[in-house]
Amino acid sequence: MRWPRPRSPLAVAAFLLPASRAAAAAMAQLRASSSTAFDYLVLGGGSGGLASARRAAELGARVAVVERGRLGGTCVNVGCVPKKVMWNTAVHSEFIHDHADYGFEVSDVKFNWRVIKEKRDAYVKRLNDIYQNNLNKSNVETIRGDASFTPDGKCTIEVDGKKYTAPHILIATGGQPSVPSESEVPGASLGITSDGFFDLEELPKRSVVVGAGYIAVEIAGILSALGSKTSLLIRYGEVLRNFDSMISSNCTQELEHGGVEVWKHSQVKSVTKSPSGLLSVTVTSSPPSQKPTFKTIEDVDCLLWAIGRKPNTEGLNLDQQNIKVDSIGHIIVDEFQNTSRKGIYAVGDVCGKALLTPVAIAAGRKLAHRIFDKKEDSKLDYTNIPTVVFSHPPIGTVGLTEAEARTTYGSENVKTYTTSFIPMYHAVTKRKMKCVMKLVCATKQEKVVGLHMQGLGCDEMLQGFAVAVKMGATKADFDQTVAIHPTSSEELVTLR
Ligand SMILES: Cc1cc2nc3c(=O)[nH]c(=O)nc-3n(C[C@H](O)[C@H](O)[C@H](O)COP(=O)(O)OP(=O)(O)OC[C@H]3O[C@@H](n4cnc5c(N)ncnc54)[C@H](O)[C@@H]3O)c2cc1C
Repeated sequence: MRWPRPRSPLAVAAFLLPASRAAAAAMAQLRASSSTAFDYLVLGGGSGGLASARRAAELGARVAVVERGRLGGTCVNVGCVPKKVMWNTAVHSEFIHDHADYGFEVSDVKFNWRVIKEKRDAYVKRLNDIYQNNLNKSNVETIRGDASFTPDGKCTIEVDGKKYTAPHILIATGGQPSVPSESEVPGASLGITSDGFFDLEELPKRSVVVGAGYIAVEIAGILSALGSKTSLLIRYGEVLRNFDSMISSNCTQELEHGGVEVWKHSQVKSVTKSPSGLLSVTVTSSPPSQKPTFKTIEDVDCLLWAIGRKPNTEGLNLDQQNIKVDSIGHIIVDEFQNTSRKGIYAVGDVCGKALLTPVAIAAGRKLAHRIFDKKEDSKLDYTNIPTVVFSHPPIGTVGLTEAEARTTYGSENVKTYTTSFIPMYHAVTKRKMKCVMKLVCATKQEKVVGLHMQGLGCDEMLQGFAVAVKMGATKADFDQTVAIHPTSSEELVTLR
């Protein structure tokens, strides 16, 4: 049985009225100011919150979303979307190097950062508006402001002094980039984060990116491909250390090959600003069994911290709700996204697991079906989640790393198939980027439990293979699939 549709005349009017933007916004405003009791209150209008709210409304619940910033959250405003625009820009820049090899005479190529920034910002703004329209069309009320639970421990939400209640409350407040404190790294606040990257008005001339995770890898790659002299400072010997070892090592090599100066075993000691406004970044490098050395990178106009993210849980008054969090502040949930307090749920980055937009969306929708569609078993399966890193070339990965498979199944039950080649695109170019692939197979049946690759096109190649892995395909299933020639993906079905 579905929940009855909302009956308030305002809600019905909003549903029927032609969707002129101004009228819809005014109607949403009016609705927001008139109701304080809902079936479902969602804190955070990002990937997870919006998806869950709209699905719950489709199922007949009276829903409100509280958002303190721009609708769409991290992904739309300072994450996946603007990042992918910049990655596309960087890929353009790389291909320009190959034009002459393909017979094109292209001279006097100039890049104007402002042109793409303006277009990117306008695109993001269009998406913000589309999200607002979609909420209006779905009859979800938008409450603007900073939400917190009231300190009295009741299941009540307060926004700008106004109180709201619902029997079901979803926390989908996401996260934000971490920056070292001034006591850890004097001058750390002179740096920016991935959020600030999207505010840059010019391409920096000299960039220092700190971090070894995918955001650091992606931003360093973009800056370098577009012409900024870029150093990437990593604490250990390789980037992406939680990926399959083949990927960590190949990606580190490709970064260096592509012109990024990778400072291994290095950490920032201090940062100072000269009167000209440029930064001096002093770095300690301590390679294993060698004496630490100190060096200063001068004239830096962009120091970017990409050292991890922390959840947006501060100020929500979770303590008073007895909602358990881990040592970093991530909300602890069970497999059904239940927090330790009945009727309060959490999805997405705020839970600290698989920080990806489609994960937050899927978990949010599954939850809506569980609460409002009587689908008691509705929950997200967190295994075999495919991931792409928009490095140069891109990385695609799904399932267990080789090391994880050996731990799970025992080394004697794991067999890997690997290949490394130069894709045909580079047959005529001076510039070469390798493609590496690995299938991790387990048990006698050689079930494919992991698939890892880095190379041209691996970003778009992964989704289909992820379906096969999710369905439990074996190496024999891969082998029985006729190859598509000439592509890089055919290698995955012809590995020996
Ligand atoms: C640089 C970068 C690149 C990324 N690239 C990718 C990618 O390519 N692919 C991918 O899948 N993922 C990517 N991600 C991750 C992805 O953006 C997140 O996993 C996703 O946005 C998480 O969704 P969420 O709903 O949990 O949180 P968010 O999207 O962060 O939404 C949370 C919302 O809650 C609001 N909020 C917080 N606190 C309050 C409060 N107290 N009251 C009211 N509102 C509040 C925030 O303003 C925000 O709008 C990237 C992230 C970054 C930073």
